[in-house]
Amino acid sequence: MTAPTAEPTGARARQTLYWRVRNGRTPEPTESAPRAWHIRHGHPGGEYSDLGHDLDPSGHHVPTLLTRSRPTGRREAEEFRGGCLACGWEGPVHRGDGYGDGDNQAVEEAHDHAFPGWRTLPPLTTVEDRSALPRDRGRWAQLTSRYPSGWLDQGAPLVAWSRHRREVHAPPHRGRPRYELRVLRPPGSRANRTADQEALF
Ligand SMILES: [Zn+2]
Repeated sequence: MTAPTAEPTGARARQTLYWRVRNGRTPEPTESAPRAWHIRHGHPGGEYSDLGHDLDPSGHHVPTLLTRSRPTGRREAEEFRGGCLACGWEGPVHRGDGYGDGDNQAVEEAHDHAFPGWRTLPPLTTVEDRSALPRDRGRWAQLTSRYPSGWLDQGAPLVAWSRHRREVHAPPHRGRPRYELRVLRPPGSRANRTADQEALF
């Protein structure tokens, strides 16, 4: 069994159960905890996230990433699904290696839940912009003026053109309380491809 009877749903409830198993508060062996759905480390509400652990759900949807390991023959396989810290929503299950494979789809679906239409947000088009643009108040204001009203305060993501296929999405942290979602550059989006490639790599 991967979880005690009456398995809860929703990121918060699952994370609570995960810790109860890990802390030996359930009949399940503590080492079985990773097989229960829990928040991926580094993602909002999970271990190693420095966003804090508010006990009260916020008034808006908050995307995060759930994971669990499943025994498959000789080794464990990772499964992923999107979650929300404000409600019981959970996305469909994806299996993958967790380096942009499986986890990325789940994070994107969590954003479809919290910020429908996020794929049309203005993208950061160079790797330099990922660090520079949020510190450039003028360009930051210009970029975010194209966000729907209220989204910025609710942690809407930054969208950045990825450096390669399946570049893993970056979870939010205290210095930047929003995901950075790496998307494939639309084909033919720039006339000057050479300069753009140099900027990206
Ligand atoms: Zn929600």
